[in-house]
Amino acid sequence: MTLRYSTDIVIFGGGVAGLWLLNAVRSAGYQAILFEKESLGGAQTLASQGIIHGGLKYALQGALSSAAQAIADMPTRWRACLDGSGELDLRGTRVLCDHYYMWSNASLRSKLIAFLGSKSLRGRVEAVAPDSYPPFFQNASVKGSLYQLPDFVVDSESLVKTLASKQHGAIFSLPGSGVSFETSNPHQDRVAVVAHRGRNIYLSAKRFIFTAGEGNASLIKAAGLANAEAQTRPLNMVYLKQRDLPRLYVHCIGDSFSLTPRLTVTSHQDVNGNTVWYLGGEIAESGVGKSETEQITAAQYAISREFPWLDCSSAEWQCFTINRSEANINDNHRPDDAYFLRDKNILVAWPTKLTLTPALGEQILQNLMADRIRPSPSPADWISEADFEPARLGDSRWNLENSA
Ligand SMILES: Cc1cc2nc3c(=O)[nH]c(=O)nc-3n(C[C@H](O)[C@H](O)[C@H](O)COP(=O)(O)OP(=O)(O)OC[C@H]3O[C@@H](n4cnc5c(N)ncnc54)[C@H](O)[C@@H]3O)c2cc1C
Repeated sequence: MTLRYSTDIVIFGGGVAGLWLLNAVRSAGYQAILFEKESLGGAQTLASQGIIHGGLKYALQGALSSAAQAIADMPTRWRACLDGSGELDLRGTRVLCDHYYMWSNASLRSKLIAFLGSKSLRGRVEAVAPDSYPPFFQNASVKGSLYQLPDFVVDSESLVKTLASKQHGAIFSLPGSGVSFETSNPHQDRVAVVAHRGRNIYLSAKRFIFTAGEGNASLIKAAGLANAEAQTRPLNMVYLKQRDLPRLYVHCIGDSFSLTPRLTVTSHQDVNGNTVWYLGGEIAESGVGKSETEQITAAQYAISREFPWLDCSSAEWQCFTINRSEANINDNHRPDDAYFLRDKNILVAWPTKLTLTPALGEQILQNLMADRIRPSPSPADWISEADFEPARLGDSRWNLENSA
């Protein structure tokens, strides 16, 4: 049996990018639906540390790079969304910490100190006086320097839930790899053919948008797009759980700063009420290829080197490998900003960072307008939950073992 539907926009992939775009295009009046292959947010988005970067990390390279400029106004845009006055209403998303910190347990090199106090960073990075340290650092047994950054941290689980909650009836589960694309000749728009429950469903759309993260590679192949290329970067992330761990949100930089801090710590809570310290940064990059035991041993060493006063003797440690997924531009470079390209009626998109998702939403809305893609005046033929199940929400890694 064959069914045919047409709508304005069909999105493949329900991480932060797809969910954000679904909200943005439907708010702009477009008829749109989203298909998710596994669970909403369940790939990179729920594995992310949730840091909304202000670009300081890039500014620390020296000159204010294009990456730093692209990202600099993101915290303000996100904060407006979080209080309900921005481009999307994200009220309901939890902010885990209002300010992110940067810690050096060494005496910072004078060049770095001068840079941190420089005019270009004024108002963006503040040295914290020792008597104003958060409680965890007041107990430090080593001397160090603490800086407060404009970055903050969102709880990605509540972000995904908030974005999905406003889109009932528009988010569907599409398990397996059951989508192909047809066109009568290479110069024409594609039609998606979804094989589901023994039927072929033909979907026509003014625009298909691929926001499938790592899954973009196979969608690009299925659609035969010659110009789009994806790349992945593996990370070996570590987390430790212990009931009485203090909440900590900090980049540890030692006495130098490269694009990747030695250790990036965010704090979360699992369903049993344990505090979870989630560890990224250089430890996750250099951990690729290490066994679980080697990686956990390396992380234990890194934590004891940075915070020798911390007692985490009863912590439970875990690690897992996950790929970051980005566009591949200019021979294996990754873009500084959110990125998309269009081929006929298909847009392939990557936010590059969770932080840059508002920029992706804006770029795509502008592209729809520039291409004179107008919202349909009346509701288009509509897929319903009789055709597809609604997609389910994903879980954070530290809760997966509890939901199994
Ligand atoms: C460990 C880690 C930490 C990070 N920390 C940060 C951070 O602190 N701050 C920051 O700004 N960025 C961070 N990032 C980057 C950020 O998480 C990603 O840029 C962002 O989440 C990408 O969102 P996305 O929606 O494009 O992809 P994803 O979240 O990967 O979502 C893609 C979705 O598409 C689905 N899918 C796949 N194939 C198909 C298909 N054929 N059809 C339908 N659906 C499909 C997948 O199941 C998935 O749900 C981090 C990334 C990682 C991996």
